[in-house]
Amino acid sequence: MTRYDRQERINNWNQQKLLESEVVVCGGGPLAHFFVAAAAALGFGHLRIVDNFFVEHAQVGEFLASGQHGGRFRAELLAAAAERINPDVEAEPEVWRMGNRRHLSIMGQPDLIIDTSNDPTSELLLYRYGQQHGIPVVNGSAKRYHSEVKRVPTGQIVRGDLSPDYAGQRGDPFSACIAAALVADEGRSSLLTLPGEQPLRVPVYYNMLAPNYIDAIDTLTPTEIDTDHHALVVGAGALGNWVALLLALKGVQRITLMDDDDIEEVNLNRQIMFTLIDDPIGKPKAEVLAEVVRRINPGVQIEGIKARFDGSDAHGADIIYRCTDSLSSSLVINDYALAHKLPVVYMGTEVHSAQCYAFVPGRNYCLDCLLNLRDTLIANPEEVPDGCLVQPNPSVVTTNLLAAGLGSNYYDAIYHLGGAPRPLPGNVLKYNLLAPNRLVYPFGEEMPALAPDRKCVCHDWLAEAGGVTSHSGAIIAAQTLSKTRSKSNEARGSYT
Ligand SMILES: [Zn+2]
Repeated sequence: MTRYDRQERINNWNQQKLLESEVVVCGGGPLAHFFVAAAAALGFGHLRIVDNFFVEHAQVGEFLASGQHGGRFRAELLAAAAERINPDVEAEPEVWRMGNRRHLSIMGQPDLIIDTSNDPTSELLLYRYGQQHGIPVVNGSAKRYHSEVKRVPTGQIVRGDLSPDYAGQRGDPFSACIAAALVADEGRSSLLTLPGEQPLRVPVYYNMLAPNYIDAIDTLTPTEIDTDHHALVVGAGALGNWVALLLALKGVQRITLMDDDDIEEVNLNRQIMFTLIDDPIGKPKAEVLAEVVRRINPGVQIEGIKARFDGSDAHGADIIYRCTDSLSSSLVINDYALAHKLPVVYMGTEVHSAQCYAFVPGRNYCLDCLLNLRDTLIANPEEVPDGCLVQPNPSVVTTNLLAAGLGSNYYDAIYHLGGAPRPLPGNVLKYNLLAPNRLVYPFGEEMPALAPDRKCVCHDWLAEAGGVTSHSGAIIAAQTLSKTRSKSNEARGSYT
């Protein structure tokens, strides 16, 4: 099995087309780091990285430059990292200043231009260049609490098409990873358009200062977060790789990783942290991931345990990240969380989508009440995938990165410091590449619960805390879950 096996399982996938593509990436900050990691993993064959800054002291989020200080260009480090992540990729650093029209002729005729520069002058020049030469341009902007992704406008470029709010702002890893995942998925769809996919026509916003995370307008006040917690990350695979990195970048004090698998070649196109050490194949995922993340942020206490989480011991953690791919593990985690009154962050991905929900006792409903896990398992025991080895599902790095980004940012809503608690969506937040505006609440934004007469301690905690009453959302959520699961082999991996 090749490293592309899981993405080649996607209907109409054409890996050769991606390997023959030439993609120019402008910028070298955190957004470019996450994008280059995803693009190399996907197998964008020819990457040109345009940036004229030196690595002084790598900013938080420039994780591919960790351990490097000064003396080298960011573009050089990014190109070297891309080739390390995927040896099939040829990556060239190009050290010249974007934002000068005369330099643009160097650009030539790539298949795709990605702008991560946070610079409206570059953005305008690149849009014009893209329009003149018929090249798709995808722009990603990121600053603290905000990200925005757009595609080159088709008509006259007006002021509103640009993102001046981001000019000169430092990239932030937690908005950058989300923008990068959106940009990389948009870029892949532009290079290799799968049935049903349409180019992005409206800007996509991800906004940590909007209660639902997807409105453009800020209505919340920024708060600091309490990092003095212990997170258990269950699963060190495609989701766990990014979640562990992002929690460590947040500075979460203690992280325990649990996974009983060893690394295989077929993991490497999504589980990119494993490519950052020598000879990873055959080594335990949890231990290697802990080692790589510890190198990136030596300030966090991180431990990898080669074992499956069986619901008996969370090693003292006070929050659990569910990064596995089966309903049964979700139920084990949910039962543990209910028994110990702990929050759980649930993430799931499929080919075109990613989704995320955080259960916090007293603030919303548990995973079973939201997703009807137990009844679904009882009704369809044979349909539950049990690990990717037994039944590999199609999977791509982009939706995993996006789900991990959404999920790790819920940490901020759970452990904010000071002020009013920031709202936590009571429903699933979903990324859907096939939806015009990409980030959606497919089940409505109201607080859901499976059924009014359902007996679950999470209802009691909610009632004690003031309670919520709407029930429609989760009924739809549960029905959709059951329907999707029984549809096809491809759909079976969904919501995982
Ligand atoms: Zn419940």
